[in-house]
Amino acid sequence: MTIIRFVLFALVPLFLAAAAHSAHAAGDPSIVTAITQSPGKEGFGLDIDVEGPAKPRLVLLRNPYRVALDFDETLAAAKLPDIAGDKLVKDLRHGLVGADRYRLILTLTRAVRPEMTVTPDGRASRVALRLKPGDDDAFALPQATVTASVATKTNEATRPFVVVLDPGHGGIDNGATGEKGTEEKAVNLAFGKALRDALAKFSGVKVVMTREDDTFIPLNERAAIARRAGANLMVSLHADSIRYKDLRGATVYTLSEKASDSLSRELADVENSADRFAGPEWDQDAPEIHDILVDLVRRETEALSEHFALQLVADMRSGEIRLINNPKRSAGFRVLRAPDVPSILLEMGYLSNPDDEQDLKSAEWQRRLAAILARSIAEFAGRTPAAANP
Ligand SMILES: [Zn+2]
Repeated sequence: MTIIRFVLFALVPLFLAAAAHSAHAAGDPSIVTAITQSPGKEGFGLDIDVEGPAKPRLVLLRNPYRVALDFDETLAAAKLPDIAGDKLVKDLRHGLVGADRYRLILTLTRAVRPEMTVTPDGRASRVALRLKPGDDDAFALPQATVTASVATKTNEATRPFVVVLDPGHGGIDNGATGEKGTEEKAVNLAFGKALRDALAKFSGVKVVMTREDDTFIPLNERAAIARRAGANLMVSLHADSIRYKDLRGATVYTLSEKASDSLSRELADVENSADRFAGPEWDQDAPEIHDILVDLVRRETEALSEHFALQLVADMRSGEIRLINNPKRSAGFRVLRAPDVPSILLEMGYLSNPDDEQDLKSAEWQRRLAAILARSIAEFAGRTPAAANP
């Protein structure tokens, strides 16, 4: 899959140079045709001209402060302006982070108060981003305003936020087994369905499941499903066993080459061995390709995964879901390796602990956790205003 993306990066600019000069037709991806810095006495301004509809998503990240604009179903044929020496914006980068998702990232020197307006104009749109110096409290998502200067249908159709739910294990691979015989693969699937139901309450969120029955799916294929679905987020669901019977509570894992601790490394090794059930053709990781844009995409994907993981931990804590010590951990989970899909792995609890086993098989407990997780996902999807919070 990495190879395909690499080819895409290489070819897109050529293809776009031609496409930008022809009129935009309904159903085609939108095209960013110009990015200009708007002069202003105070703060920083960027105007982004788009051929076709534009519905950018504003993402805020801390450490360092960054503002990202994600455009779904959009390609870019514009150069970045030279912003050298700007007081607020240190660095401006852009690239494709999916087959047709374009991202613009501004690295800031300090906290700002962001504002964004989208003005449709016939078949085109102009996105105006304005940043004013502000304190950390001001660094929060504003309501994106759409100025309907010309009544068009273009801004009505918005792409849903796609979340891929991945119930771990399945088929020949049972996963862990509890003292009372509870099978992890069944817990993961039941919870996946409960979460899908909980997410149905949020408009604009589309759920794709990697499995809906007791089927074995190799790890790389799970990540591939997320990429094919154009996922904005992937949540892999597990309830494993560990050597320490007393240990209980949930953990949120993100991907890292070096594990945060030995327990996490052990768990990732167990999870990654799930592919022993698969044929040899699944036995290898895709070859690593070192390309500056792939690295850029990977870094931003990691930042988004981290952002969601921290938010989820905070939401579970305030929802009184039991967590292990240091519940935000990381390890080299193979299933989380899609370079362009923010992904986390949730260990809901441990089947090796009798109390956790009791919770994990309880439909009521599952519904409670599903409601919390669904709200976190909806918040990450930008359905409610909220700031990143490490
Ligand atoms: Zn598992």
